[in-house]
Amino acid sequence: MKGHPVFIAQHATATCCRSCLYKWHHIEKEKELTKDEVDYIVNIIMEWIIRNSKRG
Ligand SMILES: [Zn+2]
Repeated sequence: MKGHPVFIAQHATATCCRSCLYKWHHIEKEKELTKDEVDYIVNIIMEWIIRNSKRG
């Protein structure tokens, strides 16, 4: 699944892991994500995919 778009998007948007979420999105590592935070993260990923899926 190395080239999966979601995987690429998660790294491109720093939503791949809790360390990146903390560092770039200021979401604390230890706490559980709220629904709003999950929505926020999903939106970032979806927008990145849409923006990067336009080809030639
Ligand atoms: Zn990460």
